[in-house]
Amino acid sequence: MSIARFWRETPQRYNLGGSRCSVCQHVYFPPRTVCPSCTNHRASIGKMVPFQLSGDGEVTSFTVVHDAAEGFEMQVPYVLALVKTVEGPTLTGQVVDVDPSQVTIGLKVRATFRKLREEGKAGVIHYGYKFAPRTDDRSAAERSRSRAGTFGKSASEPASA
Ligand SMILES: [Zn+2]
Repeated sequence: MSIARFWRETPQRYNLGGSRCSVCQHVYFPPRTVCPSCTNHRASIGKMVPFQLSGDGEVTSFTVVHDAAEGFEMQVPYVLALVKTVEGPTLTGQVVDVDPSQVTIGLKVRATFRKLREEGKAGVIHYGYKFAPRTDDRSAAERSRSRAGTFGKSASEPASA
């Protein structure tokens, strides 16, 4: 799959705009129009509301890429990770601003907007999110979230980054 096309065709990915089921509070990214988590799927129709992901999460799986795809030659080795967001959805993205050897499962990261790749000599530049280690202290929010569990609490997460 062409990553560039992938981004172009899904503009909501630029700003991490997902959706949330107002019946069961499950959060989805990319946004969905029907909630697969609701026992009665039809109950969620028309109840899916826009939801802004904070971009905060932690690495749940990662791989160090040494053979770059076209357009990524300047970036190897780089880390491609699965990041479970605090709101629930898992995102895939590159982890930057850290040596690949320092990336671990459980690393707290935050989405940051970066140049993804440059397309040929025409210099078409694609932007999207990458993940960088979190440096500020969000531990209070983290502890609160741990007590409350994954669902429900997400409603009170900041709606914008
Ligand atoms: Zn639901």
